[in-house]
Amino acid sequence: MTRKIALEEHFLVEGFANMGRTEGSGPAAVFRRQAAERLPEIDALRLDAMDKAGIDIAVLSLFQPGIQGERDTATAIRKAKTVNDTLAQRIARHPARFRGFAAVPMQDPQAAADELERAVKELGFKGALINGHTQGVYLDDPRCLPFWERVAALDVPIYLHPANPMTIPAAFEGYPGLAGAIFGWAAETGGHALRLVLSGLFDRFPSLTVILGHMGEALPFYLWRIDSRFKISEPKVSLRQLPSAYIRRNIAVTTAGTFSPEPLRCTIDAMGLDRVLFSVDYPLEDSDEAARFIETSPLSDGEREAVCFRNAERLLRL
Ligand code: MN
Repeated sequence: MTRKIALEEHFLVEGFANMGRTEGSGPAAVFRRQAAERLPEIDALRLDAMDKAGIDIAVLSLFQPGIQGERDTATAIRKAKTVNDTLAQRIARHPARFRGFAAVPMQDPQAAADELERAVKELGFKGALINGHTQGVYLDDPRCLPFWERVAALDVPIYLHPANPMTIPAAFEGYPGLAGAIFGWAAETGGHALRLVLSGLFDRFPSLTVILGHMGEALPFYLWRIDSRFKISEPKVSLRQLPSAYIRRNIAVTTAGTFSPEPLRCTIDAMGLDRVLFSVDYPLEDSDEAARFIETSPLSDGEREAVCFRNAERLLRL
């Protein structure tokens, strides 16, 4: 089995909402109950799932909406520090197996920059994971520039994770899950990433890396169309390159929650082999299924190793 590093692996601590309703016997309740039990556990159960899937290292992040769900700025700043300190203590029990992505209080981008720097320099974290917009503010907002400036200085990746939009688009109403993981989150999160591209953020900070899960939230499939319609969109957005150039250069993609060889092939071919990284989305997805998928996908040995661990080692400096 190829050794693996996984980057979209979630945990929970007290003080944050868990999976919601877990009573009942239907598949949704069973799924939520199992995830709810596993989220707070950073020990034998998680290590066993990792061992069986050949995952050497899991980079842990606070389950959504996490800090982004906090309405009060002072509370968000305080809770982010507590969560990051707690995660660092839990990682220290199994230092060879776990790493951390920081939770950052984007309610105050300056405080988020400071907390990211503390988490990276003092706690040894590898970057941050942000659960989409923060109370309706997206990361292309000019108020977020001091945060991005620090990210560029620290030279760490930012994982942009799905979250529910402020209001559910009418097209996604009326069908359970449609606004969420079935499709809505891909539109919301892929759209958020495109806001970063169109804002010129990557012209300003050319070295940034933003990581998207779920095989790039469909963006790799869409590069030609994005460029084609960008060229004729009005009023003209001023960028030095076409959007696809930034997507290939500044966005990395994980396999979290998308265990299917056809989009994997498309993603590698569209983005470049060095931009695609293995992940599970534990405990919302099954680690065995994720491992079986990447072990049996029609890749060369070199491609499989790049996706499973080499790209992560380089990006996270492991
Ligand atoms: Mn996830």
